[in-house]
Amino acid sequence: MSLTGKTVLVTGSTSGIGLGIARRLAQAGAAVLLNGFGDANAAIADVARYGGKVDHHPADMSKPEQIREMIRYAQDTFGGVDILVNNAGIQHVAAVEEFPVERWDAIIAINLSAVFHASRLVLPGMRQRGWGRIINIASVHGLVGSVHKAAYVAAKHGVIGLTKVLALETATTQITCNAICPGWVLTPLVQQQIDDRAAHDGDVARARQELLAEKQPSLDFVTPNQLGELALFLCSEAASQVRGAAWNIDGGWLAQ
Ligand code: NAD
Repeated sequence: MSLTGKTVLVTGSTSGIGLGIARRLAQAGAAVLLNGFGDANAAIADVARYGGKVDHHPADMSKPEQIREMIRYAQDTFGGVDILVNNAGIQHVAAVEEFPVERWDAIIAINLSAVFHASRLVLPGMRQRGWGRIINIASVHGLVGSVHKAAYVAAKHGVIGLTKVLALETATTQITCNAICPGWVLTPLVQQQIDDRAAHDGDVARARQELLAEKQPSLDFVTPNQLGELALFLCSEAASQVRGAAWNIDGGWLAQ
């Protein structure tokens, strides 16, 4: 399918899943506004290989005013956002009693509140143009819990609730809102958890296998490319009645 003439904003797309989704949508012809920390120029060069317009905005997704500036920038530079992929996210692993309060606040701000802010700011333009897609990268942790991930699990459950409300409020329009719920994807966010597990003996390969074996029956990672393909499907006409879904792609994690 072609996304020529559409503009996509992927939050947190200088790395991992966001970058994978940005690549796939650019390949389908979309103009892309990237966002995220780190090497913006490398991400722009990566996505620009597909030939379309690519830019980056450095908004910190924990700051509502910066999100507003980014959406304004998208309006001025691209004419608006047709496809919003709410992907930026962080993780912190600790028991509730030891969970640092500032980490809780940051995770709720970036993983949940930013989804609300970006969505509310792009919706008026989508309504005006009569078409839109909001794709929220939630997680299997939006549907089930795991120990030591209180803030992440709470935020991702919140994202799935917000997805349902957005889907209902746009139900009679050509705007859809859905969540994608990945299992383990080998990105820097997960590599950090593998490295922490391997810290005591340095055996990263074993830590990686143990991480998969605990939760993901396929014993294999989901890839950013596969998530890009699912996001592209959700943009298609065939998916126009997929509304408010929380679509797991998780190597069997939630089948247990
Ligand atoms: P990642 O660490 O590779 O990428 C995160 C991206 O978010 C980066 O571009 C980073 O710069 C950006 N980011 C972080 N804080 C930001 C902020 N305050 N403002 C703007 N950008 C910010 O992580 P990932 O694994 O690709 O995760 C992407 C999304 O997928 C997250 O929402 C995560 O919860 C979700 N997810 C990941 C997995 C997994 O196994 N990796 C599984 C399920 C869901």
